Amino acid sequence: MCGVFGIYGVEEAANYTYFGLYALQHRGQESAGIVVYDGKKVKEWKGLGLVSEVFNEEILKNLSGYISIGHVRYSTTGSTILQNVQPFCVNFAKKTLAIAHNGNLVNAYQIRCELEEDGHIFQTTMDSEVIVHLIVKNLKKGLVNAIIETMKRIRGAYSILLLYEDTLVAFRDPWGFRPLSFGMFNGGYVIASETCAFDLIGVQYLRDIEPGEILIIDKEGPKSYKAFKKEKFNLSHCVFEFIYFARPDSYIFNKNVYLIRKNLGKNLYKECPLQADFVMPFPDSGNYAAIGYSQASGLPIEFAMIRNHYIGRTFIQPSEKIRNISVKMKLNPVKDILRGKEVIVIDDSLVRGTTSRNRLKSIKEAGAKKIHFLLSCPPLRFPCFFGIDFPSSAELIAHKHSVEEIRKFLDIDTLYYLSIEGLLSAVEELRDKVCLACFTGEYPIEVDFSFRKDIAEI
Ligand code: AMP
Repeated sequence: MCGVFGIYGVEEAANYTYFGLYALQHRGQESAGIVVYDGKKVKEWKGLGLVSEVFNEEILKNLSGYISIGHVRYSTTGSTILQNVQPFCVNFAKKTLAIAHNGNLVNAYQIRCELEEDGHIFQTTMDSEVIVHLIVKNLKKGLVNAIIETMKRIRGAYSILLLYEDTLVAFRDPWGFRPLSFGMFNGGYVIASETCAFDLIGVQYLRDIEPGEILIIDKEGPKSYKAFKKEKFNLSHCVFEFIYFARPDSYIFNKNVYLIRKNLGKNLYKECPLQADFVMPFPDSGNYAAIGYSQASGLPIEFAMIRNHYIGRTFIQPSEKIRNISVKMKLNPVKDILRGKEVIVIDDSLVRGTTSRNRLKSIKEAGAKKIHFLLSCPPLRFPCFFGIDFPSSAELIAHKHSVEEIRKFLDIDTLYYLSIEGLLSAVEELRDKVCLACFTGEYPIEVDFSFRKDIAEI
């Protein structure tokens, strides 16, 4: 879970990157950083916190230049320390290479051990640093070949931006796990995790960076290369990007997220056609599926839980006690709407179940007489190794518990999860191009299970 933004050939590149990162803030709130090149020098600024906390006018003034990359991070590997904030820069032979990475490698630990045995010294615990070492090690073969060699070695999810001398590079894993879009702006070029960052600035969308593609942008313009000529890969776009992660106004994998979420809600109604006084979402994650359910069923929609938009990052609060307080701070029920009513509550997903349990309890306390809780994705049973921060299986409530057990735990009348088929039909022609590992446990590529634990302990 991270967001990347890069821009080439535009004055005030860092300012645009700042805005781009603002639009991608939902993809990571732990840290933010920008690296910029002005033709002579590479400058960087990064810190822990939100984009608005890390940057100000004074700082941006000092980041002049025409090529820039930026990153917002929600850590999945490596802990939350300043050292691990991206973009990550290395200096070697009087040159600087900066990387911004979204995704997770599944064989980083193994490669890192090999490199360390060869004398490579690592500064961080991030899997992205492994990529930098591999590229630098192969640079004598030229930049494109160095990246191709690297892509042949690493496995997992990566949508990556590099800033190297006067060149901006984008490359994406051959499975296409995470999104990455390419656009044109003011005579220059922009690459971003999601198109919502394009809309903010007025970038014209051109196309997605293809799975397995390397795009080099320098003074000669953009040039595209294929890393894999013969090998075949099964496309595995992360379906959870559609369900929860991406912004609804974005187009990812060539599809609008809002419309897919509405499809999920319509399919929920097809599978579980209930009658009640009204449909309501848990905002904002359930909004669009609830609209879909309401439109398919003809039942009215109410926003019976009001969100405080200024709370921020409740999910990542470490202690259970604090998490519970912040859950109540975040969503407050409207008693006069709920009192005496039978309601269909819709949300996108259930992870640990604790947040939802508190929210459902407060709906009951507000006077709702019957609660049906519908989820617009199947039970999350397996951890993600490709960049979504799902906890270990033990923490996923659906890993060990049946739907009936979870219903009892949530203390509600009905619990229904969308089926895998309902999910697949919602993503339409992408149905055989998505990764479903968090639901099925069938990982599209072999995972080196030692890597997570070991690399976090270094
Ligand atoms: P819980 O009831 O504790 O499982 O939390 C469920 C809520 O967490 C739902 O509203 C989801 O939208 C939200 N959610 C799902 N995945 C994530 C994630 N990776 N990070 C933060 N929140 C999430």
